[in-house]
Amino acid sequence: MSPAPAPGAETYDVVVAGGGPAGCAAALTLARAGRTVLLADAGTGPPKVGETLVPAGRVLLGDLGVADRVLGSGHLPCYGNLSAWGSADLHAVDFINDPHGHGWHLDRRLFDRRLRDASREAGAAVAEGTAVRGAVRQPDGAWALALRGGTGPAGTGTGGERTVCCRWVIDATGRAAAIAVRCAVVSSQRWSVNFCPHRLHTGRSASRSAARRRSSSASARAYWRR
Ligand SMILES: Cc1cc2nc3c(=O)[nH]c(=O)nc-3n(C[C@H](O)[C@H](O)[C@H](O)COP(=O)(O)OP(=O)(O)OC[C@H]3O[C@@H](n4cnc5c(N)ncnc54)[C@H](O)[C@@H]3O)c2cc1C
Repeated sequence: MSPAPAPGAETYDVVVAGGGPAGCAAALTLARAGRTVLLADAGTGPPKVGETLVPAGRVLLGDLGVADRVLGSGHLPCYGNLSAWGSADLHAVDFINDPHGHGWHLDRRLFDRRLRDASREAGAAVAEGTAVRGAVRQPDGAWALALRGGTGPAGTGTGGERTVCCRWVIDATGRAAAIAVRCAVVSSQRWSVNFCPHRLHTGRSASRSAARRRSSSASARAYWRR
């Protein structure tokens, strides 16, 4: 689709596509810096289960001023990682030696929701259930973006399509790289996934000893290739 901005279309300094950790960090930083920001998240993709945040993650969230609100409750502590990268050999990292303490078995929905709330409080408009479908550069260098879904930050629209304008677009859609692929900046082929089983060691397998609460992951080497 090639969106043409209607007169009076919503206009922002920056539109951030994708409301995961990368998009939220960008949106809240820019909003605090005084930019007008729209954070649009499609809410697509498989549920993110079994993810662990390493202890140093607290430092990054602290730099954003959101560590306590994001990690304060709702996630289980994680005391180490067991991982196998491209082979069957397990590599163990025990967080007991980590100066930042333990990590977290993340409830990703909660994690992302709190980050989006922080972005909203910082002044960003947040459009959930809203996909950025197309981006077209205008003759004056601005971008016209086609959004689909959601109700719009100002309560406009009812899940249809609308066009917004901005000076800058940030593609924070994760591996999908949805905007970059649409603009032919990168090929979707480069992001192919081969194999990555992932398992969370909590509950039955580790409940007898909190000290055994570790995350465990295995991946084919090519999974992380860029
Ligand atoms: C199986 C697996 C296990 C993992 N385990 C771990 C782990 O244990 N620890 C760890 O630190 N990391 C882990 N990761 C990596 C981690 O998930 C990513 O690094 C992290 O989610 C990247 O954040 P992001 O904000 O870049 O993208 P994402 O979290 O993927 O967020 C992208 C967002 O963009 C939205 N979106 C997509 N298309 C559009 C569009 N067109 N318009 C608007 N929004 C759109 C999506 O709905 C999504 O909310 C794992 C990844 C996988 C696949």
